[in-house]
Amino acid sequence: MSFVKASVRDAEVEGRRVLDRVDFNVPLERGRVVDDSRIRAALPTIDLLRDRGAGVILVSHLGRPEGPDPELSMKPVAVRLGELLGTEVRMAPAVVGPEVEAIAEELGPGDLLMLENSRFEPGETADDPELAAGLARLADVYVNDAFGAAHRAHATTTGVARLLPAYAGLLLEREVTELAAVRDDPTRPLRLVLGGAKVKDKIGVIQRFLEVADRIMIGGAMAYSFFKWRGTPVGNSLVDDESVEAAGRILDQSARSASELMLPVDLVLGRELAAETERREVQGVEVPDGWMGLDIGGRTAAAYAEAIREAGTVLWNGPMGAFELPPFAAGTRAIAEAIAEAPGTTVAGGGDSVAALDQFGLTDRLDWVSTGGGASLELLEGRDLPGVEALQDRQAAGSR
Ligand code: ADP
Ligand code: MG
Repeated sequence: MSFVKASVRDAEVEGRRVLDRVDFNVPLERGRVVDDSRIRAALPTIDLLRDRGAGVILVSHLGRPEGPDPELSMKPVAVRLGELLGTEVRMAPAVVGPEVEAIAEELGPGDLLMLENSRFEPGETADDPELAAGLARLADVYVNDAFGAAHRAHATTTGVARLLPAYAGLLLEREVTELAAVRDDPTRPLRLVLGGAKVKDKIGVIQRFLEVADRIMIGGAMAYSFFKWRGTPVGNSLVDDESVEAAGRILDQSARSASELMLPVDLVLGRELAAETERREVQGVEVPDGWMGLDIGGRTAAAYAEAIREAGTVLWNGPMGAFELPPFAAGTRAIAEAIAEAPGTTVAGGGDSVAALDQFGLTDRLDWVSTGGGASLELLEGRDLPGVEALQDRQAAGSR
């Protein structure tokens, strides 16, 4: 399946102002950006627009403020972007409004303006037409490069796309192309490694891939929804109770499907979610009272690693344990290393999984590491992403 949306490469932008929706939802500490990988991922489109003589207006959300919140201003992001580009990035005093419009009108070719955090406007998440109109007044052309926000129908993703000629940015296009290739035409055998704590968001992916993948390996807190359904004691382990029934349905479904659902066979336990807690490795998966399962055990990691090595395609989303704590990082590290060394096509997504890859220095060893968590899951599940759907089709763009 080829990408059917109009690409920024085909947009006429010279002497025009372009509103570029980026995913600059980056971690901040004491007013500084501590991980700029999402900013770097947006640079190719920004460079292309500036090279072609556009004035570039950037907009993103940052965190989940319910209104203006100085702690979540885009200012530090504008500063970091300016450092990366070696040029000034002007900071708008708001998301929309007459003052912002006046600044936008002054932008010349190659100039950059960062709008305030889109979530300062309550209309953002409501996809409010008035906010969308305010955004559209700032620019002549709209580009969506925020793959990580493409599963949301917000004013900056869908609303404004209906009002301006709307193109896919280079990152968004690449994300959709890479992930859709794995979803629609993977080199087989296709093997899935799923973990983490957001079980509800990932159940749909398991369901879909039960028909496509030959093995699905489960780790992380996700495993305990399955154990709980089976009646295995889970102690104080983190269990998403809402997903226990869905886990049961998946176990039923997997018994009837061609794919094998692999669950941990041994565990690493801790008394509590802390690095200095008492730690214990156990054969089997029963978690006694007063203990939590915090990582997969060595036999599980070895079995998963072997399945990864034999895969034509490996898709990974979700850490195998509480990898942020060194005593419980071994399982995630073993899986990440196996994926990095695997001869097949390797793709990962999920904010924390990507953080784990970064922590182990393995990010560059995979074929594709998605900047999107929820968006990558929804795409893999086969759902349409509103932020992508709202863009004009390739053909429509030709006639504009
Ligand atoms: P991703 O962002 O990769 O999609 P999630 O957000 O679903 O992953 O989950 C990541 C979080 O899950 C990490 O913070 C990790 O510490 C936590 N986690 C994984 N396994 C366990 C576990 N057994 N107990 C508690 N937390 C866990
Ligand atoms: Mg996460």
